[in-house]
Amino acid sequence: MTDSPLPRNITVDRQNQLLIVEWEDGAYCEYPLPGIRYICPCADCRGGHENMGKPIPPEDIFKTPAPGISTDLVDAKLVGNYGIQFFWADGHNAGLYSWNILRPLCPAK
Ligand SMILES: [Zn+2]
Repeated sequence: MTDSPLPRNITVDRQNQLLIVEWEDGAYCEYPLPGIRYICPCADCRGGHENMGKPIPPEDIFKTPAPGISTDLVDAKLVGNYGIQFFWADGHNAGLYSWNILRPLCPAK
């Protein structure tokens, strides 16, 4: 379940390393791909199951993961009406990014 607005359109701008989401409430959000990888909400990336579901600081979307962690997005798959799963070039794909996570992290214009 989600109480977030749903995306109307999702595109990836590889040249500029951006995930672009247009939301049904009219918001237009350009998320840096390195930041999307940085905020990966899976238990491994969050540092354990007990940290899952904690709010992600908005500034984290502008951070870059440690060396060796790929920010090269190879695929993305919608997970029902709930969110999106990203597949990174280093094989990581454990993060389920709910709309509840992504919408508040929309970089301010
Ligand atoms: Zn992860």
